[in-house]
Amino acid sequence: HKKLLEELKGKKSITGGGQQVHVYANIGGTGDLASVLANDAEGIGLFRSEFIYLESKDYPTEEQQFEKYKLAAEAMAGKRVIIRTLDIGADKQADYFELLQEENPALGYRAIRICLERPELFATQLRAICRASAYGKLAVMFPMIISVEEVRKARKILREVQAELKYAGVSFDPKMEVGIMIETPAAALISAELAKEVDFFSIGTNDLSQYTLAIDRQNQQLEPFFDAHHPAILRLIEMTVQGAHAAGIWCGVCGELGADLSLTKEFVRMGMDELSVSPASILPLRKKIRSL
Ligand code: PEP
Ligand code: MG
Repeated sequence: HKKLLEELKGKKSITGGGQQVHVYANIGGTGDLASVLANDAEGIGLFRSEFIYLESKDYPTEEQQFEKYKLAAEAMAGKRVIIRTLDIGADKQADYFELLQEENPALGYRAIRICLERPELFATQLRAICRASAYGKLAVMFPMIISVEEVRKARKILREVQAELKYAGVSFDPKMEVGIMIETPAAALISAELAKEVDFFSIGTNDLSQYTLAIDRQNQQLEPFFDAHHPAILRLIEMTVQGAHAAGIWCGVCGELGADLSLTKEFVRMGMDELSVSPASILPLRKKIRSL
């Protein structure tokens, strides 16, 4: 690790052909910031904010969340930090949400679906994110999107939060980027339309694979049937990059496939702008990109 770091520190990840790919880190919380810095990430591509909720016995307050987002923004000192809004439900449950038992939780009441039905819960998180945006370069992204309508509803709530903050004289970054995760086949298939609504895409290949192949990502028994490189998944990913670029926005990957070095060349060929991976995968990935 030390040798790799010495070799790569501060260097851009550019292929021999001159194509640059930004290598960002995925984090589960502020406890991971030290390893993000130690591995010289160019930004944080996925801050899984639901862990703040999962670690808490009751709904985390705006203040509690604000402190965490601010810490991340400050630690990254002007590098982009993408906060993914609450992605609870399915595999990730907190008692105090009192979510109903479901037959098919992965196809159920989760993530943006909960947030749009509970705007007060969503607005609390967005207020915390907006306030923290005054301390660095924050971006926000919404998980589990399947329609243009959802994006517009989510952005409307964000605009209302920003208007309230402005009225109250609280500082925030009015230019904070807004993106969405592309992690459902529906979103990938309508990526050209979705791209007109946002500033960036981040492809969640974990869920995109689960929903495309109809294979439960939690079920070990299905492993023999799972093909991470299934052409249907790669085609949806490529379609998403094309949809993004046609609208002039950037596109990244924040699912596990981003760290799969046997796919790096393929992602570069597609024109992927960013790959966000666990801190331990950053340096090997940067080396790989530079070797292409
Ligand atoms: C994904 O689905 O690929 C993703 C990055 O989100 P999560 O793994 O948290 O569902
Ligand atoms: Mg996901």
